[in-house]
Amino acid sequence: MSARDPLADLRRIAFLLERANEATYRVRAFRSAAKALAGLPAKEVAERARTGKLTELAGVGDVTARCVAESLAGEEPVYLRRLVATEGTDLDAAATELRTALRGDCHTHSDWSDGGSPIEEMALAAVELGHEYVVLTDHSPRLKVARGLTADRLRKQLDHVAAVNEALPEGFRILTGVEVDILADGSLDQSDELLARLDVVVGSVHSGLTDERAKMTRRMLAAIANPHLDILGHCTGRMVSSRPAGVQGPGDRAHRPRTRGESDFDADAVFAACAERGVAVEINSRPERQDPPKRLIRRALEAGCRFAVNTDAHAPGQLDWQRFGCERAALCGVPADRVVNTWPADRLLEWARTRR
Ligand SMILES: [Zn+2]
Ligand SMILES: [Zn+2]
Repeated sequence: MSARDPLADLRRIAFLLERANEATYRVRAFRSAAKALAGLPAKEVAERARTGKLTELAGVGDVTARCVAESLAGEEPVYLRRLVATEGTDLDAAATELRTALRGDCHTHSDWSDGGSPIEEMALAAVELGHEYVVLTDHSPRLKVARGLTADRLRKQLDHVAAVNEALPEGFRILTGVEVDILADGSLDQSDELLARLDVVVGSVHSGLTDERAKMTRRMLAAIANPHLDILGHCTGRMVSSRPAGVQGPGDRAHRPRTRGESDFDADAVFAACAERGVAVEINSRPERQDPPKRLIRRALEAGCRFAVNTDAHAPGQLDWQRFGCERAALCGVPADRVVNTWPADRLLEWARTRR
């Protein structure tokens, strides 16, 4: 007899997936496997696990079979381990607590690139929300569809931000930044000299999203190894729905697809690199992105990554979308002290500076 009950583990996983509002097909996989095994004598289950024949049973797949094998070996299944962080917590309270702990937003756009409003208006909306800072991260030159800023325009923007900051209320400031494109070879689409001058650098993949797995992994690892990169933006590039009406976005065209699948990359390698280099993984709050998906947030959490819960706001009202990201973070058990934008501006700046 093993120390663990595989059926109880499968049911526990299903319960926690339901609680985290995961896709029905994921939940069903665990419920079906539990049902398939419930009718068999424990000896047969153990024998099938030993000989790799669990998946011959209707309703048992590779993932559920692995959970059963781990459980029979007396180990907590990895899948379960990633879910238990939320066990026993009031998820609504946890989301509210995280939202309250946020002091700023590290990914926002203005009308200098593809946002709809001037920097001043974005800043005033952020003040109203109680933020202590926003990082202005307009796009980089190659993203022409989003009016990405050339080096020259970015220099002008830095001067402009300095002037705007003078006029803003005490206790609030705009931090400088960029959402820099991660190019095909993993290099960043702005000069080192300018990246070094910015307070916070978010790097995102906006092109070649269907690159094959090995290529995409190499590309992301190269970007993470770049000492200028502080935050990895919307890492899978997925679109779970069409954009809200009236919102522009990079790549917006008449015939753009309404939804888009996730880019394929080795998430364990990418998150291990982020943890090692101290790069924060963005939890993008945009309703049409919800990126990364929850199962990847859990893997990043387990890898030891830091996070940034960002809105990627393209208009002032969207600065209030952080709640969506906080809900997703809470569903995955992300603690506030792992989230860099719960820090005061000075600590955030120190973190970004010392990483370079
Ligand atoms: Zn982006
Ligand atoms: Zn963005």
